[in-house]
Amino acid sequence: MAIPKKGLPILLILILLPAAHAHVSQEGRVDMAMGEIGANLGKMSPADLQGIPDHAKEIETHLEVIKGELDLGADYNRELAGSVADFEAHLLKLEEAAAEGDGAKALAASRDLERAHARIKMELQRPKVDRDRLALALGGLLGTWLLLAALMFVASNRLQARVLKERTVEVFPGEGLCGACGACEVACPDGAIEVNHQGPRYLGGADCAACEGSCIAVCPVQFPGEWGDGLGPFRRMVAVRSRLPEVLARAQDGGLATTLAIHLLDSQRAEGVLMVRRRGLSPEPFIARTREEALSAAGSTYALSPSLPTLEGVEGRIAMVGLPCQVTGAEKLGAMEKLGNITFKAGLFCRANFLPGGMEALASRAGLSQKGVRRVDISGGRVHLDGRAEFPLRALADYENPGCKVCADPLARMADISIGGVGVPKGWSLAVVRTLEGEAVLDEMIGKGLIKAAPVDDKTRRDLERFARAKTAVKP
Ligand SMILES: Cc1cc2nc3c(=O)[nH]c(=O)nc-3n(C[C@H](O)[C@H](O)[C@H](O)COP(=O)(O)OP(=O)(O)OC[C@H]3O[C@@H](n4cnc5c(N)ncnc54)[C@H](O)[C@@H]3O)c2cc1C
Ligand code: SF4
Ligand code: SF4
Ligand code: SF4
Repeated sequence: MAIPKKGLPILLILILLPAAHAHVSQEGRVDMAMGEIGANLGKMSPADLQGIPDHAKEIETHLEVIKGELDLGADYNRELAGSVADFEAHLLKLEEAAAEGDGAKALAASRDLERAHARIKMELQRPKVDRDRLALALGGLLGTWLLLAALMFVASNRLQARVLKERTVEVFPGEGLCGACGACEVACPDGAIEVNHQGPRYLGGADCAACEGSCIAVCPVQFPGEWGDGLGPFRRMVAVRSRLPEVLARAQDGGLATTLAIHLLDSQRAEGVLMVRRRGLSPEPFIARTREEALSAAGSTYALSPSLPTLEGVEGRIAMVGLPCQVTGAEKLGAMEKLGNITFKAGLFCRANFLPGGMEALASRAGLSQKGVRRVDISGGRVHLDGRAEFPLRALADYENPGCKVCADPLARMADISIGGVGVPKGWSLAVVRTLEGEAVLDEMIGKGLIKAAPVDDKTRRDLERFARAKTAVKP
């Protein structure tokens, strides 16, 4: 069959258009089903075993929609198929626990279910180059265009490799879309990325086309994930103040982060906690193994900290206290089956952070030695050094980290507990308790008399919503 040269583009459009349309509406249906699953998960609680079967049935229905929409056997989403199978297994366990009236089993199954749900979201969030490539090839396959399809597949593969290379290079310093969390260094299968206090450096020599962009997929700033806007999922919000005098003497706010780390170590829930301590005015990530080491990290260090690579090769159950980008980076690495031993994540609120040298410059302007500054506070638009010197925040303008301006998560929405100083009196911390595990740990701390807790009112919630809204979410 001879086709006039001019007719070829039109024919291609006619072939590809339905495939592209089906692709878009498919994503819409998957998103809706994921939304319904999330809503039902949020309503399930081990404290209400009787309510579980109804929600589980709802979830199964929506899961079938997702399975129907996505060809889970296909090569391009094998990972997703694995995560869905995991999710189904944990859902079954939860239903069994509800039928047996076993609260402890239900708690464990709910926890696993929440994590499997996060993994599915993460897989759906992977850069869509793969699916686009498949859609392109499928479009070509329609009719008798087998040869054309093969050519298009090869071309799209090349395109994919080029796009990935360009996007990979975009991640690196100078582009600025970075919080220096270090997740890309851990994700790179070729060890081709090194992250320091300013961001990542590409060392070269990586087979980026074969890896398909793990460094980009894992990046919490460039691909923050659909973890919800606003306050994110949470079960409880409470004001907290440590009862440990040695913590209060050094803590930034109510000392919850440090007391939590101490409790996790003392109760052997964790064998180590990833934390950040100050060396002069610079942050140093490390793993606290003892109460004293946890105490040494009390107080905020306002500078980028490449924390996650510290965990590489570390064995045993590990918890972390980190900024939202560090928490999301860790969660995404977990979904890639890296750093799978992080069992608890405490996240700090964070509106912005600074490049190295910022606080040092202010200290030097104030005639203070770096080691001499014991405490840095940022409040009311001013930077306070020990109460001995004070500057307007704009004095740090040259050191603002550009990536923080596009970062969309000021509240650590992926944490088990998020902690900050918004909407509570001075000397208190606000705890946003997001997961069952977070709730169990907080209740243990109250039970052991490590912290005092007070309810918060609607005003606190409104303050927090305003804080979250104030951070502009510009997606790249
Ligand atoms: C860069 C930065 C920006 C922040 N912005 C806000 C904000 O806008 N609004 C708000 O309410 N709260 C913000 N916080 C959180 C706030 O400063 C307190 O950390 C939080 O309220 C917990 O107080 P706490 O008394 O419980 O912590 P503490 O008990 O004093 O413990 C502090 C914890 O912070 C960790 N930490 C310190 N520096 C870093 C760092 N650079 N990276 C990762 N972890 C670190 C330590 O490991 C320690 O576990 C920010 C924190 C940082 C580090
Ligand atoms: S934010 Fe983290 S993952 Fe993203 S480029 Fe920076 S160091 Fe890498
Ligand atoms: S694309 Fe893959 S191999 Fe290339 S730098 Fe990123 S993580 Fe490493
Ligand atoms: S604003 Fe905070 S959480 Fe976001 S990238 Fe910057 S340091 Fe990370």
